[in-house]
Amino acid sequence: PSREEVAYFGAGPAPLPTPVIEAGGKAFVNYNNTGLGLAEISHRSPTANAVLAEAKSALTTLYDIPEGYEILFMQAGGSGEFSAVVHNLVSVWVERRRRKAEEALGNDEDKLLERLRKEVTEELKVDYLVTGSWSLKASQEAARLIGTKYVNVALDARKANNGKFGRIPEEATWSLTPTKQEGGTGSAFVYLCDNETVDEFEFPAFPQCLEPQGADNEEDERIVVADMSSNFLSRKVDVSKYSVIFGGAQKNVGVTGITIVIIKKSLLPPQTATPPPALLHKLEIGGLPGTIVLDYATIAKNNSLYNTLPIFNLWIASQVMVNLVKTFGEQKVSGQEEIANKKAELLYKTLESHPEVYQVVPEKSVRSRMNICFRVLGGDAEKEKEFLAGAETLNLTGLKGHRSVGGIRASNYNAVPLDNVEKLVRYLEDYATK
Ligand code: PLP
Repeated sequence: PSREEVAYFGAGPAPLPTPVIEAGGKAFVNYNNTGLGLAEISHRSPTANAVLAEAKSALTTLYDIPEGYEILFMQAGGSGEFSAVVHNLVSVWVERRRRKAEEALGNDEDKLLERLRKEVTEELKVDYLVTGSWSLKASQEAARLIGTKYVNVALDARKANNGKFGRIPEEATWSLTPTKQEGGTGSAFVYLCDNETVDEFEFPAFPQCLEPQGADNEEDERIVVADMSSNFLSRKVDVSKYSVIFGGAQKNVGVTGITIVIIKKSLLPPQTATPPPALLHKLEIGGLPGTIVLDYATIAKNNSLYNTLPIFNLWIASQVMVNLVKTFGEQKVSGQEEIANKKAELLYKTLESHPEVYQVVPEKSVRSRMNICFRVLGGDAEKEKEFLAGAETLNLTGLKGHRSVGGIRASNYNAVPLDNVEKLVRYLEDYATK
């Protein structure tokens, strides 16, 4: 079949806007009539720098990124960020404690180490909100790196729902590490996954309990980290409430190989790779990777060009973002949000109108607009196979649920056209009425 004939609903990598794909073909072969393709030029060339600047500028516009934030383009995907977040933010925590200890004790290395060791043992915590497979995986990576004893699972959504994801218990039941304002010492960060791609959970809004508390010292505020890999640029976000937002490009923004990080500049210590891995080692904080290509300060200092960045991949992301800016103008990402919501509502409305045939997986209040997961006839394996086979014959593809949970998953990322969603809706209707 041709590109136009296929309606692909894969969970990632995912479809790209056709104009970007077409321009990408040319850019891969001969970019702007330079006789070279974008994958062949130096990442330090003026051309590459212009692509980088364009990508940053479009993203800043779309999300209204305030002053005081830096945009980083990294590699190693969302999973790389699971490690990077721990490495960088535990480092910031240690660095801040070291600075305070130095103010109190001067430069006596032994005394400093003794105090830091005590603080690490008694006070170091990283908070995770586990709402699905990806935040679970991120929390497991933190435990692998620094040790289980430092990881506080402040919420495990399965506990309130018979061992399954798909519901979120009241915030009052979450057990976040208390901040200084609340009489505690705070955690190094609170981690959440804004949209769970496998379990189709999406935070309906920024959690009330993570709102900034108006502490006198910014360092006493919670550091909130969000994985937005699967709902990046699909709704308006108040960036100022987050300290780190990251997302792999391959669902809503581009192709695999680029990870976008938006980070508060105050979390970028001026030194390279601070504190030195050797100090962390002395403090016996598990095995932080200390990998320089995952070090935010190093990447920021080098304008994302510490090592070779895949410029062709970056260009794809920049084109997707530039097109969003052009298409939605003043509306910015809210324009995309309206369309995403409309497509998701169409699908949910259709599914809900045939409750005897289709069962949506999560509770309504936390349903994802990006990954619509449902069962056919209560999860009857034969019927689900039949449903998928029927869809394939109509070139409706990529609908199989994640291997860990089964069922059907229709991913509704930004570049999935309304037409394709309407085709799927027709099939859902036909299948149900037959
Ligand atoms: N986070 C979320 C929400 C994801 O959906 C995925 C992948 O699908 C990842 C992280 C991991 O991304 P990567 O495969 O780029 O490491």
